[in-house]
Amino acid sequence: MALIKCPDCGQNISSHAAACPSCGCPVNIIATQYYNKGLMYYSGNGVPQSFEKAAEWYQKAAELGHTGAELGLGQLYWHGWGVPKSDEKAIEWVQKVAEQGDADAQFELSQIYASGWDIPERDEKSIEWLLKAADQGHARARYELAMNYAIGLRGLAEDKEKAAEWFRKAAESYLKAAEQGDANAQFQLAEMYSVGWGVPKDSNKVFEWYLKAAEQGHADAQFQLGHIYLDGKGGIPKNRKKAAEWYSKAAEQGHEDAQDFLSAMYNNEL
Ligand SMILES: [Zn+2]
Repeated sequence: MALIKCPDCGQNISSHAAACPSCGCPVNIIATQYYNKGLMYYSGNGVPQSFEKAAEWYQKAAELGHTGAELGLGQLYWHGWGVPKSDEKAIEWVQKVAEQGDADAQFELSQIYASGWDIPERDEKSIEWLLKAADQGHARARYELAMNYAIGLRGLAEDKEKAAEWFRKAAESYLKAAEQGDANAQFQLAEMYSVGWGVPKDSNKVFEWYLKAAEQGHADAQFQLGHIYLDGKGGIPKNRKKAAEWYSKAAEQGHEDAQDFLSAMYNNEL
């Protein structure tokens, strides 16, 4: 448990305290207000967008132990948005949250460690945190671990059996999230059914999950549905009208490949 300074009286108090025991200052509420200000500047919601100002407010909230702000600040340092880019500071802030057992933070930390050059110690750390997230059921962590084993990346020896096991576990996690309506998980699941990683190849399921994601506005899923209707794949009959419809939905969202396919269709090149 970390100690923080009360923003009002300066006393050292627990970062989990809702209010300062000496002066009664509502620390949690203040931290959340700071964090929300940071978010506002981060997204430019009602104010001119500014990563610099987002970093300032995240910093204040993070110092009061706000985990969302700690993660946000870590991301800003990682990308060098509004602050000088620093992997060390990114790691410092994200690790605080990862150590509390947050699977998203653990995954993020593994990504930060993996983003540098191939330094063996960084690879080790990256895999260490990836495993922690994967063990907690984090879908992307499981998928990435499987890929690392499949190809032999980040200091791991190529191991097809372990790769298959983690693909299977990744598919389980994606299915759980997909059934709860997560569009990205629905898309990933369709991809896995399409190549047969972690699940048997199944063109009906590919179509079913792409459709669910596409109906929620997932541009890549809309693009894939365009392909399925254009060529008539996996028991779905060719339908140029539907292909064009799905390509346009993706194109309207700025999907460049979909725009290319759509104009090729109009020019009768497809
Ligand atoms: Zn106080």
